[in-house]
Amino acid sequence: MNPEIEAHLRLSVNFPSPPGVATHIIELAQDPDIEMGKVAKALSMDSALATKILRIANSPLYAQRRKSENLRQALVVLGLNATLTLALSFSLVKSLRGGKSNGLNYGLYWRRALLAATAARALGDAMHQSLVEEIFLAALLQDVGMLALDQAVPDLYSRGEALQRNHTALAEHEKKRLQVDHAHIGGWLMKGWNLPERLHRAIEHSHQVALSHSADPAEVFDRCVALSGPVADLFLLDPEHRQFAETALSAERSLGLDRMAFGQVLGTIGAMIPETEAIFEADLLAKQHPELILEQAREVLMLRSLHTLREINTLRSAPGDSSSRALELEEETRRDELTGVYNRAYLDQFLEREFESSTRHKWPLSVAFADLDNFKKINDSFGHQAGDRILQATARIIRGNTRETDLIARYGGEEFVVVLPATDADTARSICERIVMAFRNTGHVIGSDHATMTISIGCATHGTQTLFNSVADFVKAADQALYTAKIRGRNRMVPFDGQISAALAHIG
Ligand code: GH3
Ligand code: MG
Ligand code: MG
Repeated sequence: MNPEIEAHLRLSVNFPSPPGVATHIIELAQDPDIEMGKVAKALSMDSALATKILRIANSPLYAQRRKSENLRQALVVLGLNATLTLALSFSLVKSLRGGKSNGLNYGLYWRRALLAATAARALGDAMHQSLVEEIFLAALLQDVGMLALDQAVPDLYSRGEALQRNHTALAEHEKKRLQVDHAHIGGWLMKGWNLPERLHRAIEHSHQVALSHSADPAEVFDRCVALSGPVADLFLLDPEHRQFAETALSAERSLGLDRMAFGQVLGTIGAMIPETEAIFEADLLAKQHPELILEQAREVLMLRSLHTLREINTLRSAPGDSSSRALELEEETRRDELTGVYNRAYLDQFLEREFESSTRHKWPLSVAFADLDNFKKINDSFGHQAGDRILQATARIIRGNTRETDLIARYGGEEFVVVLPATDADTARSICERIVMAFRNTGHVIGSDHATMTISIGCATHGTQTLFNSVADFVKAADQALYTAKIRGRNRMVPFDGQISAALAHIG
């Protein structure tokens, strides 16, 4: 560490040293012969702290048949080490929160710290770690260096809030100005406060999401903490800044958690947030709804992400790189030459996989079958090339009215299929209606003529009201709905309905 900064930090009078209770707890924790009675007594000195410990012991995190009525019982439920660690979390947060900020946005800082701690704990649970409370505490304190730097170098964070929302850029900014970042400062500071080694080491390493994974608990500890910041950002940042796919990739690389397991971790965090909010008296998500965040995560992670991850990997590898070229070639074989959307062969593969995972995880999956109305007339009146251009426009219109995570394929001729992962029947219906409307409102220039095309769509949803036996049945249902749309006069969408299709089968 730069001696000048160190001296500065040591002298900065405003920076809190650990409060009396915390110092006492740290001492207690270092005593190898510690007794329950002594701990209970120490904690009962601070009644707010004691209440919190009781509340935690009775929370779903430590599901117990019997309610803990007093500190001693809570200690039995939580265990000595965990109780001390939790007590330390509360008392440190309490004293650090009281400080006065210069350029640092304290609200944002504490929301991220508490979200990261919650995330780290959920990651620790998923990795079957025994020291989850310590993982929680290390993650909670991982950015404590920012509090110190904000005191020691008052204008450091005054450049505006955008920087404080981009943790990587923030650390770069610190290194540029001071040659160290807050992770380093935080580790050094916590060492000075006599926190156990694994805590200050994890804080110091909190910006290094390591790539290789070993099962060594000390390393897993560090990685849960390092990953907790990016995971917290998934809940903290605005939707357009959430990097679900990239963070899932980091989780896979650093902890070996696959997308499914990572999705579960996000669900656990969502469920833990209200409890963390209550215990730390914080408003973590402000206006955001955890369900919406999880919904977005599910869309990106669970269903379509193989695809997304592949795209990221392609972007990451340098151009000309042989593996990225191989991926490009592989991608080409999946595309329809005329329209650039996926071809039938890839559609079949993709649908098979999505159908299987939707069935297994009980997520809805929708499919839309679309067919241009009276397309033959275009070919007949204006020629095949004009028809081809309309098909290209069709792909563009569909792309413009679906999500990045939906898959569009040309089924054949002028028929297109859209696969809508994680989409229930109502949503699928409104997406299809939007597409029908967009066609109605788009004019096409053909030579010196203008034409409007309409489209008919049939859609079906697997997984909510209806479970299909196979992909073939599922697609057939959407096709039957399309047929109904055609006989009802075209230029519309019709959702699959078992009764109508039975009646049609009768007529046909
Ligand atoms: P409907 O509303 O019942 O769907 O009427 P339609 O005229 O669209 O009828 P149908 O689906 O039977 O006709 C499809 C036509 O699409 C037949 C064929 O000439 C044309 N077609 C199929 N593939 C291509 C292609 O690659 N390019 C062009 N230009 N036309 C194609
Ligand atoms: Mg057709
Ligand atoms: Mg047609």
